[in-house]
Amino acid sequence: MPHGLITAWFYLSGIMPSKILTKFSQLTMKKLLFQFDTDIYPAVFDTVVAYDGGAEHVIGHGGLTPDNVTSLVEGAIFTRAPKDKKNTAIFVGGSDIVAGEALFAAVQKHFFYGFQVSVMLDSNGSNTTAAAAVAKLAVSGVLNGKKAVVLAGTGPVGQRAAAMLAMEGAEVSITGRSMIRATQVCEQIKARFNVDVTPIEAFDNQARAVAIEHTHIVLATGAAGIELLTPEQWQHNPTLEMIADANATPPLGIGGTDMMDKGIDRHGKIIWGAIGFGSLKLALHRACIAQLFTDNKQVLDAENIFSLAKEMAQSE
Ligand code: NAP
Repeated sequence: MPHGLITAWFYLSGIMPSKILTKFSQLTMKKLLFQFDTDIYPAVFDTVVAYDGGAEHVIGHGGLTPDNVTSLVEGAIFTRAPKDKKNTAIFVGGSDIVAGEALFAAVQKHFFYGFQVSVMLDSNGSNTTAAAAVAKLAVSGVLNGKKAVVLAGTGPVGQRAAAMLAMEGAEVSITGRSMIRATQVCEQIKARFNVDVTPIEAFDNQARAVAIEHTHIVLATGAAGIELLTPEQWQHNPTLEMIADANATPPLGIGGTDMMDKGIDRHGKIIWGAIGFGSLKLALHRACIAQLFTDNKQVLDAENIFSLAKEMAQSE
């Protein structure tokens, strides 16, 4: 007899012993992922990966801020018994990393002893994408002591990537079209990660070509479909050792590369294209979702997501 019918029969006959109730609740305890997005519409990409990572039901909420999230967090932390709370988790996303960080912090403020669920921050795929790209660079060559430039590094992916490169011991700069914006982002990175990143104003491709002179590593994290360097602007750079480009929408961020490049040699430089390291990004994102359901105390953000990426990059 199906579980639902057995349960209904017990209820109707008025003999639902607590042990049996517990047994059935365990059998039907679904892995619920609450997708809290700072944008109006929760990202479809994150919903799909959530299911692929092992969530059995994904509930998306958009337009969330620290001011309107309280009742949603309370609903997540108060409903299940302590041993069952690992089956509820929260994913914070959205296109704005600063808004995401604020929401992520606000969610955790409502946790208290015994009443918490696992939580992950990945605004615009920032942590998982940056972690996958930097982890692939780390297995391809040495990062410590090298000069790295994150082109158009003011977006969510670039900010996280700059921090991760700096954590690996690289001397990191980011470019942006406005010095004010680039400086503000470097300050945000310093406040969050306590690493120094240098801002560079580079309005066009020519200025970005100058910015990468004497550099060993270039990581391009510009908006989709925006070329940041022409082929000629990097192919003859004598110090350049490695390039990764996060943009998979033509034209690519780095002209003369291919989005499928998987650590291949072009003009004496190791190239990682967006799809080339994208398979690690997806595997990592899924692995993080699975990790959320291992207990109710996981707090996944840049540092531990990057650690996992480095482990996975060895074999992926
Ligand atoms: P984003 O916020 O959309 O853009 C990053 C930066 O690009 C912006 O801060 C802006 O910097 C610069 N930019 C915008 N328009 C520009 C233009 N016309 N010319 C020059 N620079 C311009 O990007 P993101 O969300 O961080 O994502 C970075 C890249 O990763 C995107 O291409 C995205 O599609 C890709 N992505 C890849 C994966 C993957 O698995 N491979 C996953 C997620 C995202 P300034 O205004 O400061 O100049």
